[in-house]
Amino acid sequence: MKYHEIIVVGAGLAGLRAAVETATEFDTAIITQVPPVRSHSGAAQGGVNAPMGNNPAGKDDSVEKHSYDTIKGSDFLADQDAAEMMIGEAAPCIYELEHWGCPFSRTPEGKIAQRPFGGAGYPRTCYAADKTGLYMLHTLWERSVALNVKTYEERFVTDLVVEDGKVVGVIALNILTGEFEPFMSEAVIFGTGGPGQVYGRSTNALISTGSGAYVAYKRGVPLKDMEFIQFHPTSLFGTNILMTEGARGEGGYLVNNKGERFMSKYAPTAMELGPRDIVSRSIQTEINEGRGFEGGYVHLDLRHLGREKILDRLPGIRDIAINFAGVDPIDAPIPIQPGQHYAMGGISTDKNGATNIKGFYAAGECACVSVHGANRLGGNSLLDTVVFGKLSGKHVKVFMKTKTERKKGEAAIMKALEEQERVREELLSRGGTENHAAIRDEMKETMILKVGIFRDEKLMQEALTKILELKSRYKNIRVMNKGRKYNLDYLRAYELWGMLELAHVIALGAIERKESRGSHSRTDFPKRDDAKYLKHTIATYTPSGPKISYSDVTITKHQPVERKY
Ligand SMILES: Cc1cc2nc3c(=O)[nH]c(=O)nc-3n(C[C@H](O)[C@H](O)[C@H](O)COP(=O)(O)OP(=O)(O)OC[C@H]3O[C@@H](n4cnc5c(N)ncnc54)[C@H](O)[C@@H]3O)c2cc1C
Repeated sequence: MKYHEIIVVGAGLAGLRAAVETATEFDTAIITQVPPVRSHSGAAQGGVNAPMGNNPAGKDDSVEKHSYDTIKGSDFLADQDAAEMMIGEAAPCIYELEHWGCPFSRTPEGKIAQRPFGGAGYPRTCYAADKTGLYMLHTLWERSVALNVKTYEERFVTDLVVEDGKVVGVIALNILTGEFEPFMSEAVIFGTGGPGQVYGRSTNALISTGSGAYVAYKRGVPLKDMEFIQFHPTSLFGTNILMTEGARGEGGYLVNNKGERFMSKYAPTAMELGPRDIVSRSIQTEINEGRGFEGGYVHLDLRHLGREKILDRLPGIRDIAINFAGVDPIDAPIPIQPGQHYAMGGISTDKNGATNIKGFYAAGECACVSVHGANRLGGNSLLDTVVFGKLSGKHVKVFMKTKTERKKGEAAIMKALEEQERVREELLSRGGTENHAAIRDEMKETMILKVGIFRDEKLMQEALTKILELKSRYKNIRVMNKGRKYNLDYLRAYELWGMLELAHVIALGAIERKESRGSHSRTDFPKRDDAKYLKHTIATYTPSGPKISYSDVTITKHQPVERKY
């Protein structure tokens, strides 16, 4: 059985940053479904926030102001102590990446350049053109190689092994060979990314299925605030590839079919740089009320920025618009519509990334600390990955120094391995009539249409009924490929069950929250209700479906007020 003192699952920014932290003192291995630099973090375009004041317009920025913008942006659902802690760590984390070689774009004086982003009082988003995530990912990957982190690629973790309330290892499916592999360790950190593919019209990669969150949930770790799903205002009409908020940060306009910059009605001061929940709802309202273009989109117009600025600051956006929509933004507006983009909720952790299971930690989009509350600000997710990746790694090092017993749990790990083999045999032997790809499509369609930007009781009850129907039909699926090696047919079918479980959690949490807050916008309960719902939603696994309860939000300095932009 393979043994490493610390196992990190996931090689996106959160996982890599955690591994880079622990590998300075402990034998650390990463297990990842895809090669590290193919992780979804590489798709991040616009940038990462820190209150550094490098842009002359941001010279008065501070940790305090960035924290307040984050808390207000979260519609006051973020834990304020956690948000303040993340932002206090922001600039040191960015400089650390810079010293490790991350090629951030520069100001004329040579400082790290910062651009404006939505919901932010100052331009504080550090960027590397419009490929920020890719450069950060390569930087951390190089660092992990230098620190001799062992990486197991093309392994899909299907189970977290827990004995007496302590984590003892994980089980991974080796996708290439088809064998289940047992891994023993003293601590496990998940950086397994978000569940975007549960939704249709998602900007997320196909591997963003929330498989890590499901593994944790199934093993008794609660999920927090899962009903808060972010819809990004500007995804390319037709494919839903992201058009970064940086395009509006650089001065892009949103325009309806009457040629109006309609954001003046919804966020008269911030205009296109309002927070994402408000801008997405505004676009959807324009479309719903007939001021969009045929098919359901509005325009993102960059033409006035000029050729030079577009080529310098937004080259990737231009390439995507040309290749996927046949539109050159230098000459024509880009057709866009809101798309599912991010999950504010996830595996419930404390500020150190620790969960209710000893030795089990989570960071990045799979986790919910909570710093984003009901709505994340653009640029704060990359920040979350590097800050909480680092902090969870730091805390694991402390945990390791106090741990007295080592190399425990072999029998439990082997039992879990046998269980995974049994699950596969059972799934492959089903001779049903249902096609798992069709069930996935129906789930995605249901979630985007019925638990989407605008929600109400009737729509969400219909969604819940549909999810239960799909869960029932899942029992009658047939996997056509019965082989073991590189069987993606099996993998897609297997992970679908976890996605249905997460869809169930999202829909139920949304139904139970009878208010509107941040991204959770109910037409039947249009107001925020702090008296009842200034609370985190906690979903706990039971075989018959999620059990919902609530926990307190930490308020330090800022009492909730109405959000105006
Ligand atoms: C198109 C796009 C652009 C974005 N741009 C920005 C931006 O400019 N600024 C910003 O702040 N945020 C941005 N975001 C959000 C941000 O990129 C993500 O939230 C963040 O990168 C997630 O990082 P992560 O490390 O948590 O997960 P990921 O990068 O998704 O990595 C997950 C890792 O886990 C592995 N994994 C998953 N499940 C398993 C399993 N079961 N077994 C083994 N391995 C597994 C995968 O192989 C992968 O290595 C953007 C998001 C999108 C979709």
